[in-house]
Amino acid sequence: MASEETNLVYARSLIRTIQDYPQPGVAFRDITPLLGDGKALRAVAHGLLDQASTSFDVVAGIEARGFIFAGAVAAIADTGMLPIRKAGKLPVPAHQISYDKEYGPDTLEVSPELKPGMRVLLIDDILATGGTLKAGADLIELAGAQVAGVGVVMELEGLGGRRVMPQTQALFTM
Ligand code: AMP
Repeated sequence: MASEETNLVYARSLIRTIQDYPQPGVAFRDITPLLGDGKALRAVAHGLLDQASTSFDVVAGIEARGFIFAGAVAAIADTGMLPIRKAGKLPVPAHQISYDKEYGPDTLEVSPELKPGMRVLLIDDILATGGTLKAGADLIELAGAQVAGVGVVMELEGLGGRRVMPQTQALFTM
């Protein structure tokens, strides 16, 4: 059987770069081939869990691709998963936070299943400028919960995300 490290190298090789998508100048990191491969998805889920160095009560994932990895990690960690959603998508929003993105403001919301005192492992697919993860972390704290760890599949270096979210653990860097 291939080692965990070999499977992670394989998973990384499945991330495809699409130039000039969704707009000119952007190198879009497309995880779809990785998601379609059982061995790769499993390796990434275990990698995200293994790199979380502290205990946690729940895994939160940021819409939309963060949901996929957070759900996979939660399933193997035997915890629940909490979706952090864009505004207006949750039938019962309990807390919300607005933040600035490149093309204007955005809002994230979480449901009342996020309880004060909970220790949360926060997951997204990519750390780029860090604005999205920072908003997710701030939202968790606004709810009176604690960010126990922050994990991403991939860190895009040189975009400033590490300065904004220095505690982030990344499986891969590009
Ligand atoms: P940021 O807030 O700048 O750190 O951006 C992180 C979010 O934007 C993540 O949820 C990613 O899904 C998405 N994202 C940012 N840059 C890229 C990229 N080059 N390719 C794919 N997704 C990206």
